[in-house]
Amino acid sequence: MNRRDALRLMLSGAVAGCAAGVSACRRPTEAVAEPSSAVVGPEPELRLAAQGLRSVERWVHPALHYERREKKRVVCRLCPRECLVGDRERGFCGSRENRGGSYYTLVYGQAAAANIDPIEKKPFFHFLPGTRAFSIAAAGCNMDCRACQNWEISQARPEQIAGARDLPPAQVAAGALQTRCSSIAYTYSEPTVFYEYMLDTAKAGHAQGVRSVMVSGGYIRPGPLRQLLPHLDAVKIDLKSFREETYVDYCRSHLQPVLDAIRVVAGVGKWLEIVYLVVPGVNDSSTEVRDMSRWLLQVAGPGVALHFSRFFPAYQLTNLPPTPLSTLERCYQTARAAGLQYVYVGNIADPRRASTVCPGCGEVVVRRDAMRLIENRLRNGSCPKCGHRVPGVWA
Ligand code: SF4
Repeated sequence: MNRRDALRLMLSGAVAGCAAGVSACRRPTEAVAEPSSAVVGPEPELRLAAQGLRSVERWVHPALHYERREKKRVVCRLCPRECLVGDRERGFCGSRENRGGSYYTLVYGQAAAANIDPIEKKPFFHFLPGTRAFSIAAAGCNMDCRACQNWEISQARPEQIAGARDLPPAQVAAGALQTRCSSIAYTYSEPTVFYEYMLDTAKAGHAQGVRSVMVSGGYIRPGPLRQLLPHLDAVKIDLKSFREETYVDYCRSHLQPVLDAIRVVAGVGKWLEIVYLVVPGVNDSSTEVRDMSRWLLQVAGPGVALHFSRFFPAYQLTNLPPTPLSTLERCYQTARAAGLQYVYVGNIADPRRASTVCPGCGEVVVRRDAMRLIENRLRNGSCPKCGHRVPGVWA
């Protein structure tokens, strides 16, 4: 049996991609109101079925990081929203619910998407190049980005994922082993909101020798993040902008908590890569890119990997054009001039800007074609020509 067949067998033909398994609509408007949302469950299965929805009872699991309040209310302390949630209500993310004064996640073991991806697709360029990541997601997100590429699951209620299947932590770890994936990636939607599922899966993976990487918007409070980091091997954070106004207007969230999360990850020395989706007219000014690059240099050092990613019209920003290639090149030059040594441009076919160049001698040490490894010339993480050490996790 080949690896593709093994995955197919394990998932029973269930979950093949983000959009495929999602029923018609996005998260209802009332379910995104701050601080807490519509009354949603538990609902009788027949009534859910009549609406084309599915019961999530099998994925209900006690939540971490919350506090009880009077009148059976709870405050969720997982992310900076700190939703105050009444009995039988949910938080902003729609995937955590108050039941009688106790808080629960509704997506523990719910694979809304599961795929095997090249690690370069996450993208991680300095983490086990050329390996594959067993990639999973659950419904929900604690942000609402107007340029979201995966809004079908990130903005859906757990009941709306028609193709969701049981994939508990031990089964994810076993699946990664069977399919010869070096890591498990928590990705596509926002893993912060399926925190308990991610945490236990990362532990199960480590017990089997499989590593874990989180692909996140970084909208998580420092305490839960610190508890999680020992069980992760790398973190990718999407920095949406370096302006508070843009976070408010385009993501319904705030900049500072994301900067704090980056600082925490960098501070504990966990491998970190940053993606900056360059949206025309939104976050592409030279001043903003320069300020962001300088801040990153100061917090994470010149060896942090920064990816400028090309925007394509999506979700609520279909009125904007794709990012001009000249803008991406300007961003690249700006970040390099600020002192960052490993800057990449993604979502375009440009091997020159997807490859790693040794800062010591200018030699190409890792050659990539967009999101595919072509050649890794590093020797024990060092340039084969001059011996310069390139930061990352190489083995
Ligand atoms: S994870 Fe964030 S958005 Fe979801 S309930 Fe908790 S505080 Fe609210």
